[in-house]
Amino acid sequence: TTPGIGLIGLGTMGSNLALNIADNGHDIAVYNRTPERTRAFVDGAGELADKLTPCETLTEFVAAIAPPRNIILMVPAGEVVDQHIEILRPMLGDGDLIIDAGNANFRDTNRRAAEAREKGELFLGIGVSGGSEGARYGPSIMGGGPKPAWDRVAPVLKAIAAKYDRVPCATWMGEGGAGHFVKMVHNGIEYADMQMIAEVYGIMRDGLGYEPARIADIFAAWNKGPLHSYLIEISAEVSRAIDPQTDRPVLDIILDRAGQKGTGRWTVIEAQHLGTPVSAIEAAVAARNISARTKEREAGEALFGPAPQALDAETVTPQCLENALLAGKVACYAQGFTMIEAASEEFGWSLPLPEIAKVWRAGCIIRSTMLNDMAEALTASGRVNLMFAPFFADIMKRGQGDLRSLVSKASLGGNPVPALSSGLAYFDMMRTGRSTANMIQAQRDFFGAHSFERVDAEGAHHGPWVGS
Ligand code: NDP
Repeated sequence: TTPGIGLIGLGTMGSNLALNIADNGHDIAVYNRTPERTRAFVDGAGELADKLTPCETLTEFVAAIAPPRNIILMVPAGEVVDQHIEILRPMLGDGDLIIDAGNANFRDTNRRAAEAREKGELFLGIGVSGGSEGARYGPSIMGGGPKPAWDRVAPVLKAIAAKYDRVPCATWMGEGGAGHFVKMVHNGIEYADMQMIAEVYGIMRDGLGYEPARIADIFAAWNKGPLHSYLIEISAEVSRAIDPQTDRPVLDIILDRAGQKGTGRWTVIEAQHLGTPVSAIEAAVAARNISARTKEREAGEALFGPAPQALDAETVTPQCLENALLAGKVACYAQGFTMIEAASEEFGWSLPLPEIAKVWRAGCIIRSTMLNDMAEALTASGRVNLMFAPFFADIMKRGQGDLRSLVSKASLGGNPVPALSSGLAYFDMMRTGRSTANMIQAQRDFFGAHSFERVDAEGAHHGPWVGS
């Protein structure tokens, strides 16, 4: 049968997504800039090859899809997407839909959505999470754009998406760039979640002197409890792996320099625009940046001496670390959800917080049992800081002592825990009724006559220093 769907860009993500779509019973036309890749892809598709219509030119590709066409772009974010829209535009007809499934910046998606609306074209921007495995067997999909266009392709997207308790992780988030915005915050949270795990790993490695195999056991044990998640699961796995070349733990031969493609940075930049605190995510992005400064760090170690000191294993127990990680994680997710809420107001979206927690429960990198609890808490408590929803308030009440104890012992020992301590500082600020911003206001009024509000009277006031 003539396919109703086509996909452009058979790289890591595109090839797997195309196989997933074919596997779910849909015929699909495929095109790649380099035709050898298209041929190799179809040759390697096994029995799914029957469902694929390989095309060597875009003209052939468009002609191979039955209108109304649904065309998925899985190419690098940025200019390449704009180029494809430009090329496809004159080739498409009324009702044809372009779906950008790459990691677009949501502002680009907003712009493309507005252009499409003006020209009477259909355009969706969907965030796809889960890496190549996810793309092949079930990603988490965050959609944005006109709802009718989403509804048209939703059956396919829900079929190929990951399932949590049989509920598909594919949800429409709102108009324009809403889907890519939610995907961006997902990635920001992912940075902080990974960083907090890395910090606890650092405490075990440098503070407690544990070997990777022992650390693997601890992560594996945590994965059976409230921290149960993909990231903890793979942390156990990578801690246990042995390098076949050297017979050493793989972790010990990996250079301590973290890469990044920029979505964590985007989250931080957008959070600053929105005036919403994401300090744990900022700390995680900064930690990756600092990790790249190897020479400088080595000079620092030579100058100030080795930092990480031994910690007392009697008090820094796996239980203490688990509780601290739990509390830190809740603080970080609270920041992420607060940011999404701020964006809802700023961009006129009604981003559905419980639905977002649900769409992240499976398929994506931050998938976890806790996200199911978050979905329930956000449903029950409405628009409240996640840390204050009863279930998570209990985790904070139980875990704050251990988080506090870990952060302070780590500080005394010189073991860096930037994301965990940012999470703790956020929690402490959010439970301080009277902050110290009165001092800031006094200073601002002193040097700039900016005025301040009084606790005991309405209106703008100045201190006795103004005009004196
Ligand atoms: P790859 O580098 O594996 O593949 C890129 C694809 O785009 C290839 O098919 C390539 O074709 C094509 N392409 C690149 N430049 C051009 C161009 N100028 N004109 C036409 N085609 C071009 O990328 P991924 O599959 O990893 O990523 C695709 C998108 O998905 C990106 O936006 C990425 O950020 C996003 N993403 C990636 C994830 C991942 O885990 N890898 C996870 C989630 C999203 P050719 O064969 O000719 O080079």
